Amino acid sequence: MNFEQLNLIPPILKALAQENYTKPTPIQEQAIPPVLAGRDLFGCAQTGTGKTAAFSLPIIQLLSEQQPRPNVPRPIRSLILTPTRELAIQIYDNIRAYSRFTRLRSVVIVGGVSQRAQEQQLEQGTDILIATPGRLIDLMNQGFVDLRHVQILVLDEADRMLDMGFIHDMKRIIAKLPAKRQTLFFSATLPPEITKLVDSLLTSPVKVEI
Ligand code: AMP
Repeated sequence: MNFEQLNLIPPILKALAQENYTKPTPIQEQAIPPVLAGRDLFGCAQTGTGKTAAFSLPIIQLLSEQQPRPNVPRPIRSLILTPTRELAIQIYDNIRAYSRFTRLRSVVIVGGVSQRAQEQQLEQGTDILIATPGRLIDLMNQGFVDLRHVQILVLDEADRMLDMGFIHDMKRIIAKLPAKRQTLFFSATLPPEITKLVDSLLTSPVKVEI
């Protein structure tokens, strides 16, 4: 199996070649086709399996295939929530690399750094927003984030987000999203709270276990 056989578009294939990725990892092989087809996904996978590209590549493809809307600020069309600053920045760096031959814009929002620059980036508009829950809630409360146009939500390392006490923030964020959306949910473990969350957030998900 290679990336061409996953029906990825040329700008993505070119970026993957630059990254020296020659073949998809197992989670990429299993996750990319259903996500491209619009399905919800539940991935039971650790970091190191290639899960970032497994969700990012189809998101980049789905968003870049939609016609850009002229004369409106770019609405946030995909929101990626992840527990830590390090993971958020890693996902942002990966998405920037994978989307470098598309016209998509990405912004990362994390705590522990000045908020002003993040406000400015949000004001300029972004297609993809990668965030940790705490700082995103702060910016939402101050009116800097409009999530009404999000089509694809990713919950990355959901079990760690619960362990870190983010459940209320996550629920407040998700309440602001359209009910009709695609949701991709990743967790390395399956405690009962995760099963409950999966049942409440996903519709007929494809399950991928690595
Ligand atoms: P992740 O599990 O998403 O944190 O990815 C782990 C590492 O594998 C990252 O450094 C990625 O850049 C790299 N990676 C992801 N997919 C591939 C691939 N198909 N071929 C080679 N390296 C990859």
